[in-house]
Amino acid sequence: MPGKHSGSELVPKHWRWALKLAAYILSLPFLVIWGITKAVRYLHLLQLAVTSSVDCSNCGNPVSLTGNWRCECGFTYSGHLMRPCPVCQRVPRIVRCYRCQATTLLH
Ligand SMILES: [Zn+2]
Ligand SMILES: [Zn+2]
Repeated sequence: MPGKHSGSELVPKHWRWALKLAAYILSLPFLVIWGITKAVRYLHLLQLAVTSSVDCSNCGNPVSLTGNWRCECGFTYSGHLMRPCPVCQRVPRIVRCYRCQATTLLH
């Protein structure tokens, strides 16, 4: 048969494209929610980065976020707690109360 353009092969391709588009549209609300969650978390981090102290979850004593800090990797630095470690790039997740020694989760 010399006729190459039968058209029957184009239909499934078209459908696949449409299904892909439908999948994108369906996943859009999830992407938006994910984006908002990420933005809220980021804002929370930003808020912590400008906060000078947090209240201890155990005794309520305000714990200063500026001072001398020791990272899990052993690197010790002075300044604000909420900044990534220059050695391992980890951002501290907990702060230790120097009055009762209890740790408070930051984020
Ligand atoms: Zn405490
Ligand atoms: Zn570190």
